[in-house]
Formats: sequence, C-alpha cells, structure tokens
Amino acid sequence: MNEDGLYFYHPLENIEDVDLFYDAVERKHLTRAISPERPYTYWTIELYDQKNGLRGGGGLGILAADTRRVAEQMGVPFVLVTPFYPFETKQKLVNGIVEDEHLPVSYVDFGFKFVDNVFVKCCGNLCKLDVIEKNFRNTRILAITEPNYGELYSGLSGSDHRLYQEVALGFGGYAALKLVGLKPAIMQLNEVATFFAALARLDELASNGMDFYEAMVYTRKHTLYTNHTLVQAAEAEFSREQFERFVVPNLKSLAVKKWLRDKFYNDKLRLSSVTIEIAELRSGVSILHARVANYRDLAGDKVKFKAITNGIDMNTWVLPDILSYYRELSLIDEVNLPTHDYAIYAEKITAERVRELKKIGRIELNNILKNRPDQNGTILQFAEDSLIFDFKRRFVDYKRPELPFKNPVRLRSILKKYDAHYILTGRVHAGDERMSAKLGHILEVVARDDYLKGHVHYLADYDEKLAYGLSVGANVAVNLPIVGLEACGTSWMKDVANLNLLISTHDGGVADAPISSYLNVTGLDEDEELEVLYQRMEEAAVAWSNDFDLEFLTKRQLSAYLPTISGARMLNDYLDYLFPK
Ligand SMILES: *Cc1c(COP(=O)(O)O)cnc(C)c1O
Repeated sequence: MNEDGLYFYHPLENIEDVDLFYDAVERKHLTRAISPERPYTYWTIELYDQKNGLRGGGGLGILAADTRRVAEQMGVPFVLVTPFYPFETKQKLVNGIVEDEHLPVSYVDFGFKFVDNVFVKCCGNLCKLDVIEKNFRNTRILAITEPNYGELYSGLSGSDHRLYQEVALGFGGYAALKLVGLKPAIMQLNEVATFFAALARLDELASNGMDFYEAMVYTRKHTLYTNHTLVQAAEAEFSREQFERFVVPNLKSLAVKKWLRDKFYNDKLRLSSVTIEIAELRSGVSILHARVANYRDLAGDKVKFKAITNGIDMNTWVLPDILSYYRELSLIDEVNLPTHDYAIYAEKITAERVRELKKIGRIELNNILKNRPDQNGTILQFAEDSLIFDFKRRFVDYKRPELPFKNPVRLRSILKKYDAHYILTGRVHAGDERMSAKLGHILEVVARDDYLKGHVHYLADYDEKLAYGLSVGANVAVNLPIVGLEACGTSWMKDVANLNLLISTHDGGVADAPISSYLNVTGLDEDEELEVLYQRMEEAAVAWSNDFDLEFLTKRQLSAYLPTISGARMLNDYLDYLFPK
C-alpha cells in the first residue's frame, strides 16, 4: 500500500505509454492490435457460467460467457472482468408461489485461484477485495470478490449497495488487471454498471503524466459501451452524496473529480450519461435495438449506436450431433462461422435427418428432466416423437408469458388435436410481485382444466441446463415480446440453431431478418396477436407432421439466421468495429 492508502496506482513506467496516445490521435483510432499482454477486456456485472460457479440473471450474463468462449475458440487474447458473487439464488415452487433460496458458493470449488488483494475506498473505509482468476487458454476470467459483496442485483438499483458493487468491480477490477500485469487493448463495457472501470483508467492516465484532455481522448478511443437497454429514463439515478462517499475517494486526479462533479443535474446522475462521454465507441445488440434505443448525451443530442447483433456460442448451445450435421453439409467452418455458400448448402437439409437429430435431443431433454419435477411434482419423460412447445425466458412483463393462456379453451384444443405438450419455464425476479402473481394465475388456469393440467408443465428454477435441454429437445419455441421492447434475445437463437420452429413477434434480433423468415406473430392489438399465435401453433404442429413443410420451414429459418446466431460472426463484428483495417 502506498501513502495514499491505495494499491492500484502504479509508477509512470507501468502505465500506458504516452507516445501511444499521440499515435492514437494521429491514426484517429486504436493504438495497437490485441496481444496477450494487451488483451481485449470485457467488463460485466453479470456472468452466467454455471460450470465456473457463476449464475447470472439472464441474457446479459449468458452473452458475456458466450463471448469469452468464442474468443477462446478463435484464439483472441481476452480477459473477462466480473464479480464472483458469494451467494446464488435457486427458485422453487411452494404452493404455487415462487420462493428464493440463497446458497453460498465458494470460488475454490470452481477452480479459481487466489491472486492477491486489492482495495477500494468507500464511506471512509478501505474495502479489501480478493482477486481471483481462472485461465482458459488464451482467455481468462479475472474476478473480484469478498464475503459481503452480496448477490447479483441485490438491493434496489439506485442503492448504496449497488453502487458499492459497481465501484468495487470498476476500480477493484482495474487494479486487478494491473496486478496480473495486463493493459487493456480495448475495454468493452457490458452495460453502464461497469462505467467505473473506464473511470479508473481515465483517472490513472490523468494522474500519471497525461493532461486531462489527453487522458480523456485516449480513454474514449479505447472504450466501447455496449447498450442493452432501450430507454434511458428507466435507468436508476445515483445522488451526488452517494458519489462523494463511494466514488470520489477512489479518484486521484483533481481534474477527473471536477469533470465528474460537473455531470450532476439536480444533484443526480445516471451512469449512461457519463458512460456515453467516456466511450467514443458505442454499440447496440441488434439492428432494431441500435436504431430505436433512445439515448441522449448531456448536450441533448441523440446517441448513435453501431448495431452488432448478439450471437451464441454454438459449441455450448447446439446439440453436438446437429453441429456435426452442419459441418457435414459445410454450413459452418471450424469456429462455427457460416461458410460463404451456407445458404446453398442449407438446401440439402432433409426432414428425415432433422427428425433423427431431434430424437437424440429428446433423450438429452428427458435426462435433464429427471431432476426437474413440474408444478405437480411429476417427473416428465416425453416420447421421442411427441410434440413439445416451449416458452423459456425470464418472467418479465414485456415477454408476455401469460399470452397463450388468455384463451385456455383454444390452447386446450390445439394441444389435444396434435397430442402436444407446452412447457413453461422462467425465473421471476426477486421481489417482482406482479410477475409472481401472473405466474400464479397461469398455474391456476392450468390447474382448473383437466386436460391442460397434464399437458402444460411449469418448471421452476430456469437455468442454463434447462435452457439447453429445451433447445435441443423441444420442437417449437414461443417468443412473444411486445414489439420494441426486446433488445436482442438469445434464447430464440438456441432454438433456431437446434432446428426447432420459431414462433415469434418481430422484435430484437429476430427482426434482423425479414418477417417471412419464421412463423411471425403480428396484429393491431393483443387479441389479434393472440389469434395469430394460435394459428401459428397449428401451422407448426402441422409442419412437424409432414416432411415437406418441416423441411421448407427449417431451411428458411436457418438460411435467414445462421450468420446472426453465430457467436464467431459477433466477435468478428466487434473486432472489425474496434480495429478497422
Ligand atoms: C439464453 C438464456 C437467456 C437469454 O434469454 P432471452 O430471453 O432470450 O434474453 C436467459 N437465461 C438463460 C438461463 C439462458 O440460457
């Protein structure tokens, strides 16, 4: 510890080479390509990677995990910086009500090794953080943690505890990066909760030899802000007083403190407003989202986002047999990037093979379901050729899990006619009473109907395993966000990649391709949409019962979406944007 009581300030020779700054300004872009000492760094408050002990909340964390895995496959030097949460939440259904169970998690059990401690200052105290890491070839997860760090998204979003978590990740994570001897080639901020990492860098530069403006330009040119939210106003605000307690004590440069203090309006600040200023590079997560995200900078001008649609790690999410089939047909290359002529090769897909592959997927699903009773406590095992519809996603209002249950008579007649099952799974956010009540209502509707009771199944504690099982083992995916509210969504990609038919509204990443690429749900109001949804469910059921339709729809979906789905395509898009040739 130096006399300032801080561990993370280093003498000038250890920091950015000031000459590189002038390079950057001259070339108007990034100074250097990525190297093992100067990796791509990815900052995220949420990582959903259960194999490594980290259970995120949803898509944001899944994306982070997939991005690292794809970087590993593509040989890109990559460091993911994130908190390791000492607790995780499991959900179970007790008398029709979702209950949370909090379980301790130890990083030692997941192969992380302790590196050293770093400190952040908050409220007059020094908080000690463990720096831990786990290496995966050319990539690693670098995490900070301490026993009182809390759970993901614990506390309200503008609360002291959240600010502490975000400050600890930003300043602590930046110190951790220095501790392991790395400098970032680029800092990708996965949403604004990671703003403090870029602030830590700005402060380091500005207090070690660059003047403030140079430091700001340099930081801006090396920082990418990836936005996943549509409406800025929905974001929580922090107060000046909170910043004085948690943030300012960690800053060394007077100019940076002054810059930050000037950003408050009525003593409040949204992190997006300062993230927009500190990051010259900005991206949105689908074509539609990048266009409609409504963000203003401090001057009131609309912020432009580069569209880079999310992708998935196909090695993680696609049934190995299906992946081999794609390779056999030359649809994808060794890093799962679609080949130049993949759309032509997709014509060779046959319904016979699709059915065979889905039977293998069904066995996988049945295996996973052995430990996952439904709402009646029943262990489900499905016949290899029975038809399964599924809805698997976080239970939030705009995703409308309740929509198919608005006309239970109609739903019943469809399930009966095609001898089909409907599986519903999704986590309710802790404390979200509205969605908890909605789920309760769905379960009541189902329980009241003798037929639905045995054919609609709710599975609690939605997680990666269930997401995988349903992707490989179901037949038809239902995705119904209110149009305009889904930033991208990735669960539908897992379905398309596993040869399920997709029924969806035209939103998020689905809207990257034309409306005619899948079984589209549209309408002037919700009643119309509902009617179309039931028609689409019938069409999907009919398609699964005849080879001609099945082949046609599968080919059409895959040719429209294979590039979108590919995580390698996504990482290449980021690299092209960040390091233009
Ligand atoms: C894929 C996945 C998500 C992402 O869901 P979207 O609703 O498509 O954003 C969330 N949670 C889990 C467990 C997943 O596997």
